[in-house]
Amino acid sequence: MDTSPTSSVDGGCGCRRVRYRMSGRPLFVHCCHCRWCQRETGTAFALNAMIEADRVQLLSGEVEVIDTPSESGKGQRIARCPTCRIAVWSNYAGAGEAVRFVRVGTLDEPDRFPPEVHIFTASKQPWVVLPPATPAVAEYYKASELWPAESLARRAALQAKAASR
Ligand SMILES: [Zn+2]
Ligand SMILES: [Zn+2]
Repeated sequence: MDTSPTSSVDGGCGCRRVRYRMSGRPLFVHCCHCRWCQRETGTAFALNAMIEADRVQLLSGEVEVIDTPSESGKGQRIARCPTCRIAVWSNYAGAGEAVRFVRVGTLDEPDRFPPEVHIFTASKQPWVVLPPATPAVAEYYKASELWPAESLARRAALQAKAASR
């Protein structure tokens, strides 16, 4: 993974109307094996780079936000290209609008952001073999146990900002 805090990477949808820039390192990268993500992507898992919303900048086009059910029951809001309907990021109820879950596969350089944790492995498709060096949990985990200190500090800053509103 690229650890440079100043690096940015661009991404976008399939028809290229929506283009965006993600600035800096994600807070953490989730590979989610829940059944909801499997259904929604039509594949075996979803790969999401969590990052502060203000570090994701639309370069062109606009997104259409669609309320979608999620594993937690609280739903997620998925931002899609209005033309090709590809999902570029989503917001979950837990972290709210302040944190975007960028779909790693829509980045121009997706190889830079491998999973840092595998979640909901209880419903993992059995043919998916996880690398032993990456943490994996049956359901969810505590950020304080796995996130690097820099990401925890950034999360604390977000929470302080939310509390002061
Ligand atoms: Zn598109
Ligand atoms: Zn999921």
